[in-house]
Order: sequence, then C-alpha cells, then structure tokens
Amino acid sequence: MLNKMIAAMLPYLPKKLIWVFSKRYIAGETVNDAIRVARDLNHKGVKVTLDILGEFIKTLEEAEKNKQEYLSLIDIIQKEKIDGNYSVKPTMFGLLIDKEVCYQHLREIVAKAASYNSFIRIDMEDSSCTDLEIELYRRLKSEYPKNVGLVVQAYLKRTLDDLKKLLDLNSKEIPMNYRLCKGIYVEPAEIAFKKYEEVNQHYLEDLEFMFKNGIYACIATHDKPLVEGAYKLIEKYKVPSNMLEFQMLYGVTPELRDSIVGKGYTMRVYVPFGKQWFGYSTRRLKENPKMTSHIIKALFVRG
Ligand SMILES: Cc1cc2nc3c(=O)[nH]c(=O)nc-3n(C[C@H](O)[C@H](O)[C@H](O)COP(=O)(O)OP(=O)(O)OC[C@H]3O[C@@H](n4cnc5c(N)ncnc54)[C@H](O)[C@@H]3O)c2cc1C
Repeated sequence: MLNKMIAAMLPYLPKKLIWVFSKRYIAGETVNDAIRVARDLNHKGVKVTLDILGEFIKTLEEAEKNKQEYLSLIDIIQKEKIDGNYSVKPTMFGLLIDKEVCYQHLREIVAKAASYNSFIRIDMEDSSCTDLEIELYRRLKSEYPKNVGLVVQAYLKRTLDDLKKLLDLNSKEIPMNYRLCKGIYVEPAEIAFKKYEEVNQHYLEDLEFMFKNGIYACIATHDKPLVEGAYKLIEKYKVPSNMLEFQMLYGVTPELRDSIVGKGYTMRVYVPFGKQWFGYSTRRLKENPKMTSHIIKALFVRG
C-alpha cells in the first residue's frame, strides 16, 4: 500500500530527487554517458547492451527521430570500440501505430548493426505487443540471421509454446539467440503466472528447453535461486560457454554479477540512457510498485 502511494506520487516529485535513485540504474542523458559506463563495465570484463530510453510513442515523427538516434549510436559505439550490442523497444518505432513503418525502421537499424557484424536485441514489451514482436523477429531473422535476437518472458503462460513454434528458425550453424527474463509488466492472471515459485519454475523449464535444443541462451536475472538453477542446467546439459551468457540490469546486484563473472561466464549488462529517463523511471514504478522499496533503499544507501 505504502509502495503504491509513493509510486503514485513520484511523477510529481522534483526531477532532481528522482534522479538521486535513477542514476543508479540509468547511465545518463547522453551517448557520452553511455560510453563512460560501458567502458567502465568493459574494463571489468563485462559486455554491454545499450538501450536508448523511450517507448509507446504517439506519433510517427518520433519513430523517425528515434531511428536516427539509434543509427548514429551504432556508428559512435563501433568507432569507440565498445564491447557491446543494442537493445530496442519496438513501440519506440511505432509498433502500435503502424507495424510496417516500425518494421522498416528496425530493418534499417539491424542492417546498420549487421554492417559492423553487431547485434540487435528486440526487447519484449507488454502482452499487447507479444505477437507483433514475434512477427517482427521472424521477418528480421530471415533476412539477418546472425544479427537479431528476441526476449521471452517466463511469466507468460504461452512462452514455452512460442519457443516450440519458433524452432524452425534454429540451426546448428546459426543458433537462435534469446534473452530469457521473468517479465516486468503487470499482466492479467489469465495469461501470466503470478506466484514467484511458478514464474521461477517456468523460467527454468524455458531455459532447459533452450539448452536441449541448441539455442543460445541469455540468462537475464538477478535472482540467486535462478542463477543456481541455471548453473545446474548448464552442468546437466554440458552447455559450452559459447552457447550462453548471463545478463543483468545496470546498477542491480553487482555482487552477484561479480560472482558470476568470477566463475568465468560471459556477463552482459543492460545500460539504458537518454533524455526519456524521467518518464521511464516513473512509469516503471507505477507499473511495479514493488520497485519502490529498491528506490527507498537507493535514496538512503549510497555507493
Ligand atoms: C538484461 C535484462 C533485460 C531485460 N529485458 C526485459 C524485457 O525485454 N522485457 C521484460 O518484460 N523484462 C525485461 N527485464 C526485466 C525482467 O523481466 C525482470 O522484471 C527483472 O529482471 C527482475 O526479475 P529478476 O529475475 O531479477 O527476479 P526478481 O525476483 O524480481 O529479483 C531478484 C532480486 O534481484 C534484486 N532486484 C531485482 N530488480 C531490482 C532492481 N531494479 N533494483 C534493485 N534490486 C533488484 C532484488 O534483490 C530481488 O530480490 C530484463 C531484465 C534484465 C536483467
């Protein structure tokens, strides 16, 4: 209840105050901020995936602007020799306004990444986007098989079926590449598992399916029991190190992150940045008031 009240108040608090907690999770407003954070992580042996903040746009002019920003980001990051790739949210390119326009924008972005032998990850947004984002992935993957990947959400009841249906895209030569996460949006109980144990059980089932079928798996979680569960599956299926990586969000559970890196696994950190940080932070909080306790902690515990 208290979390909900605080989350509802956040958009009305001064931006500077919100920044006090946001800066732990967001690199900053500019590409230079993203480069600074990415370089620091690279020095620690951690790869990055860069995300320009923005989603659910209202006009197609914004989509064009967002595409240009990504195209320029890719050129800069490649020039700066950052060890990283890119994550995109299709609603930032107009997915829910005109899916064909969105596809064309993403195609240009993937083509640009492919010209550097780099990679674009399609983030998974709320359930109004699931089918559309899978369709986008199918289309882009057929043209750029090595340069595009998708996110799947363990909390959705449909996910294992989706994985099965997409298996025709997999091959030994060019394995599919999924990021598996729990899912961040608030979804109805008819379509999503709600209980922590249920979500974790399905997370490990989805991961096992990926390992069994030779899919490159990005294990995106900060949840220690899931990391332990992943270790067991890696051992069980003798998954080679070039077929998996762990992923975490910037600023979250750095100790767990370091312990995974210490075991020799590839780790990639999701680094969000951009002018839209305020809207992004407050929206995330309204969607998931449980996050508020992390924020309150971040306000008082520095470093
Ligand atoms: C690299 C990456 C990319 C993602 N991409 C997507 C996506 O495309 N679509 C999507 O729906 N979701 C995405 N997510 C979010 C994901 O779905 C979860 O909501 C989020 O990772 C929290 O789940 P968890 O597995 O860490 O487990 P949880 O059980 O939620 O958290 C485990 C523990 O981690 C810590 N923790 C988790 N989050 C935070 C935080 N923000 N601040 C401080 N501590 C925290 C807490 O100690 C908590 O107890 C992504 C997550 C990661 C790591």
